[in-house]
Amino acid sequence: MSILGSNVSKAIWKNHLYTYSPTLFQYFEKYIPILLPDVTIILTHNLYVCPLCVKNYFFETSEGIKGNSEFSLDHVPPESVGGKFKIITCKKCNNKSGEYEAELSKLLNFGSVPDKKYNSIFPKMSVVKKDTGEEFIAGVQLNHGSVNISFNKKAKAHNLILKKFLDDLHSGNAKNLILNVSTPDLNKIHKALLKSAYLICFIWWGYEFVYSKNGEMIRKVLNEEIKYPAVVPTLWHETNKNVLPKGVGILKKENVKQSFIVSLEIKNSTENFTASVLIPNPTEQGWDKLYELDKYAKEKTLSEFECFTIPKSVMPNGYTFAWNNFETETN
Ligand SMILES: [Zn+2]
Repeated sequence: MSILGSNVSKAIWKNHLYTYSPTLFQYFEKYIPILLPDVTIILTHNLYVCPLCVKNYFFETSEGIKGNSEFSLDHVPPESVGGKFKIITCKKCNNKSGEYEAELSKLLNFGSVPDKKYNSIFPKMSVVKKDTGEEFIAGVQLNHGSVNISFNKKAKAHNLILKKFLDDLHSGNAKNLILNVSTPDLNKIHKALLKSAYLICFIWWGYEFVYSKNGEMIRKVLNEEIKYPAVVPTLWHETNKNVLPKGVGILKKENVKQSFIVSLEIKNSTENFTASVLIPNPTEQGWDKLYELDKYAKEKTLSEFECFTIPKSVMPNGYTFAWNNFETETN
């Protein structure tokens, strides 16, 4: 087994060990149990634990890289939506998230990239006969303000059931039709954005965030053990409107700090978007605060919130430090 995949260059894994190992070692009670029975070899102080599962690890020894799993490079946000950060995660976690991350690019392309095969303005649609359940793939075209539904020429020539259906339709005998347009799975999109926001927090705050109570809770959400208290994406904006600060910020309401907010820049082939994810603050009430914010945001206008980018000088000092020292840095 080769521990590091071919897309993880020496410079990348060296940099990961250099950056993240120092933030790991004070949490030895968390990671020592996963290293057993290798515990005697980890005194190298060159250890990396997968931030997503906190179970798989690799470390550098004089004989090369050792570990308990294969690792590869993960893009944050996903590569399919233009993610530009790269972080090493274990292959198992990377593969697992690929499935729900695919849904995010589906959403961005929804309606803006037509289904060329069926010459449709929608990505994929079908007509269903309600009484029989028969389904026919179709295309929707806009034609001088009216909507036309068309069927594939080959299918019209060879599919007898479709032929019969079209005959019925033209003679006025096809009733109770349903138009189905495949829509992206919002639950998966929420997960994809939350995962990216979580990894951005790891990039900034290292293992202090990963091993925090809230980090643990977010991993439970990603494993579908619990629900996230705030619906993400909370806000969507075109990046060029500059409504939200880039990167990691603090959300304020009536001049009181509420939570962190991570703005993810994502794009499809023609447009840029910002999706923002609320991340709980590190206080005891941080997680529950998100329930309150979610409820509030649904009832009131979002203009009552203010967002502030956290200065880069504060960020690398950790999750709690960034929360506690935001005010002094901006005054
Ligand atoms: Zn993992």
